[in-house]
Amino acid sequence: MIDLHLHTTASDGLCGPEQLVRLAWRAGITTLSVTDHDTVVSVPDVAAVASRYAITAISGIEITAVVGDTDVHVLGYFFDPASPVLEEFLTSQREDRIRRVEAMAMRLADLGLPVDITPDVRLARTVAGRSIGRPQVADAMVKAGHAASVSVAFARFLGEGLPAYIPRRGVSPAEAAAVIERAGGIASLAHPGLLHRDDIVRSLVQAGFAAIEVYHSDHDADTQAKYLRVARDHDLAVTGGSDYHGEGVHHAATLGGICLPLEEFDRLVRRAGKTSF
Ligand code: AMP
Ligand code: MN
Ligand code: MN
Ligand code: MN
Repeated sequence: MIDLHLHTTASDGLCGPEQLVRLAWRAGITTLSVTDHDTVVSVPDVAAVASRYAITAISGIEITAVVGDTDVHVLGYFFDPASPVLEEFLTSQREDRIRRVEAMAMRLADLGLPVDITPDVRLARTVAGRSIGRPQVADAMVKAGHAASVSVAFARFLGEGLPAYIPRRGVSPAEAAAVIERAGGIASLAHPGLLHRDDIVRSLVQAGFAAIEVYHSDHDADTQAKYLRVARDHDLAVTGGSDYHGEGVHHAATLGGICLPLEEFDRLVRRAGKTSF
């Protein structure tokens, strides 16, 4: 079983590398990739633990790019996690994450919903590679009693276009893909079904995106079939994974619930210019 979309505590997942790999092993996963938001700090740790469980681990990342006010998530695989070009880029991405979280906290205070995100911001500033984001703001809202749950915080305040939403600043999806490629990897457009913007999907496909995430916990059968057709029509490689963040964290994600077929993985490996994995 192959799962190429997982998160750890380096971003907004609940499990550290050790726990995540152990759970993946128990679920029967044999190849995995951890794809934290704008950080690769867990990649070497995951690789080390995975080798003890005879699991193949490939490097992974989920970069937030922007088109207008819309976030577009770009996955990357098979790159060199020690690439200085990549690290410099990710450092600036994480700085913008801090700016956005602080701006959202200020906006919430203006709305009469003050939250304390100081401990999370301190961690993001001091722990190497730590990536912060809206989930931490949502947690702080729940803690302060302003929302009954993280989902409610997103649905009423933090989602795109809602009162506490602050747009990201950053690169286009094509630029994010170029950074991944400069680090030796291949880019894949993450969960197009969650984007609800097929105009963006179309323009990225036309601009030559290499791969698209067809298999994902939030894609129903029709959505999966639709993007598989897009991949076939435009000769894109196909990626997939659960987007597991930990038990009970949004999505319907369970480990082993969504997997990438082996033949798609083999095609991805070839498309990435790698010999075998
Ligand atoms: P950010 O990276 O700061 O833009 O935050 C986006 C992250 O928030 C995503 O990667 C998800 O893990 C999480 N998220 C997005 N939408 C929701 C939602 N409706 N409910 C709970 N978590 C969400
Ligand atoms: Mn996330
Ligand atoms: Mn995503
Ligand atoms: Mn993800």
